[in-house]
Amino acid sequence: MQNTATPTHCPYCALQCGMNLTPTPDGTVEVSERADFPVNRGALCGKGRTAPAVLARNVRLTSPLVRDEGGALVPASWDEALDRIAGELRRTREAHGPDAVGVFGGGGLTNEKAYTLGKFARVVLGTSQIDYNGRFCMSSAAAAGIKAFGLDRGLPFPLEDIPKSGCVILVGSNLAETMPPSLRFFTELKENGGTLIVIDPRRTRTAEQADLHLAPRPGTDLALALGLLHLVIAEGRVDEEYVGERTSGWEDARAAAMAHWPEYVERITGVSVPELRETVRLFCEPESAMVLTARGPEQQSKGTDTVGAWINLCLATGRAGRPLSGYGCLTGQGNGQGGREHGQKADQLPGYRKLDDPAARAHVAEVWGVGPDSLPGPGRSAYELLDALGTDIRSLLLMASNPVVSAPRAAHIEERIRSLDFLAVCDVVLSETAALADVVLPVTQWAEETGTTTNLEGRVLLRRRAISPPDGVRSDLEVLHELAARLGVEKGFPTDPEEVFEELRRASAGGPADYSGITYRRLAEENGVFWPCPAVEEAVEQAVEEGEDALLDAPLPDDPARETPAARTPGAHPGTPRLFLDRFATPDGRARFVPVSHRAIAEEPDDEYPVLLTTGRVVAQYQSGAQTRRVAELNAAAPGPFVEIHPRLAARLGASEGDPVAVVSRRGRAVAPARITTAIRPDTVFMPFHWPGEGRANTLTNPALDPTSRMPEFKACAVRLETVGRERAG
Ligand code: SF4
Repeated sequence: MQNTATPTHCPYCALQCGMNLTPTPDGTVEVSERADFPVNRGALCGKGRTAPAVLARNVRLTSPLVRDEGGALVPASWDEALDRIAGELRRTREAHGPDAVGVFGGGGLTNEKAYTLGKFARVVLGTSQIDYNGRFCMSSAAAAGIKAFGLDRGLPFPLEDIPKSGCVILVGSNLAETMPPSLRFFTELKENGGTLIVIDPRRTRTAEQADLHLAPRPGTDLALALGLLHLVIAEGRVDEEYVGERTSGWEDARAAAMAHWPEYVERITGVSVPELRETVRLFCEPESAMVLTARGPEQQSKGTDTVGAWINLCLATGRAGRPLSGYGCLTGQGNGQGGREHGQKADQLPGYRKLDDPAARAHVAEVWGVGPDSLPGPGRSAYELLDALGTDIRSLLLMASNPVVSAPRAAHIEERIRSLDFLAVCDVVLSETAALADVVLPVTQWAEETGTTTNLEGRVLLRRRAISPPDGVRSDLEVLHELAARLGVEKGFPTDPEEVFEELRRASAGGPADYSGITYRRLAEENGVFWPCPAVEEAVEQAVEEGEDALLDAPLPDDPARETPAARTPGAHPGTPRLFLDRFATPDGRARFVPVSHRAIAEEPDDEYPVLLTTGRVVAQYQSGAQTRRVAELNAAAPGPFVEIHPRLAARLGASEGDPVAVVSRRGRAVAPARITTAIRPDTVFMPFHWPGEGRANTLTNPALDPTSRMPEFKACAVRLETVGRERAG
């Protein structure tokens, strides 16, 4: 392996920061600045900087493990482990039918792996029971985006547009901790005279940067957005011309908003009427403005309606599909965007096609060389799939996910996993879920393999291999190839990522997330390509059909994303950094208002459980912590869980800083030290969700599902507090 630096991307969050990797004598890599990638311009957070620590042999798996008759996981050969998995999956299928085999993926898988996993489930196993942990991440925003715009792409514009906008409302995002290098865009926004408004029940590090911070009660973001829209209407700030020309459904949405008087909204949210008026003024006065949501409004049992209400606010004020304006979702996981486009979601086929669309089935089946009728239909969503383990679903193949820590109502899900007939896990470390498996397969990591990811902007990126994996480790693609062969499918599961990508290009061609014009060569030459990017034949055909320019929306003059070698190649589609500038992706080209109304969270506080719990992340840990909890520097910065409590609530409880506090919900009990701060509302406590065991926040969370997105309500449930050793209502 070469000793020069390899330009690539971070293994963690959806920002997908650029970094250079140089091999070190101990077999890992050294991270250095890669200033040419425009998203982070060389900056990295502590997670990205320390990511090589997980490459070390002493923290990772380097041999397959098989559970022996005594119940212990013991090292085994690859053949033994693969034979065991194939045998158990075959046995389950023969005894109980194909849908008794489940597959669970992850938002950290590359596009090639997500694509191959979905194909493996449908073609080899014939099961409909596949979903992934990205369902817990951004599915409500995706559902709302599709309803309103006809298309879901996290951000419809590059991050570089943010500093040039007039105002940004950040709803339920603590990006100063979740993706710190992105804070630069918001600092530059303020330096340029723009306004940053942050909506969060906590005064987070992000909220501290805001010109205006609103701290609504958890689970009331929907009412807040409706109250703002009410004021927009009442104050005559609706962009009537835009609404008339570019939208449909305004009258019903308008009527719904008019039922949400500011004083009523103040009672629901705790945000005062003057604060609501100031927000409307700051949002409406500049020429351009944006709303960006994250997990706060999305992880609710009404998340789709909540995001829909924020989109309605954008549409009524003409802030969507115009330069420097729009609605966007800040996707969380490293490949949360690409992972939801290429077929590991329960209802989806590659290219963001729908599994219940006959034309989509026919197209993908032809690429896969199977009959359309052989493809199963849509399956269960992530929580519903996990909840069915041990009953309808008897065996599970799981990749890159740790639901024992990250699923809602986690003690119940852990019990369901334990009740399986058979569990196989592919992971880089022995996560809490892998520790329950019958077979664990050690797989390669980001620095040891090549593949593509799609960041939160819809920018497809090439992650390059910088070093060889240690002996004993294989890639997920090799695992799926070997399992397919053992289950009787000898062809169609290549192990070379570029070969997989070439097939993915064909499978996605003509779909909403069209990657057919993207190649590894282009990705190597350019700093990513934004989808949709049809191959040139499709681009010309589309232009002829639509009677418009083949390159869809025109770039802004200073758009660096267009200034690339391939973009200047005659005939090559340059990709689409900005969506919707001319038309939305609906049949009539108009964005759709969706009328929504406030409703309560699934579990309001009562006498027995009088306090609200909300959950989230801290800067030094990532998701379930399976990787970052193995990094000494990160553990020193964030060693364990805590319960953030307002001083007034702590005084009522009789708890002091650092005292162990039990947080009890209808689903279980978690114990963690108190962290007393005025940064949280007095009626709410906060817990980060990165840890297993006694302090596992997801023991408490409510799996109530959004009816459209099937997103669980991680962000709000009713709890009571007890000092440990004495039982006392909080
Ligand atoms: Fe990695 Fe995200 Fe940190 Fe960037 S912000 S270094 S992508 S974890």
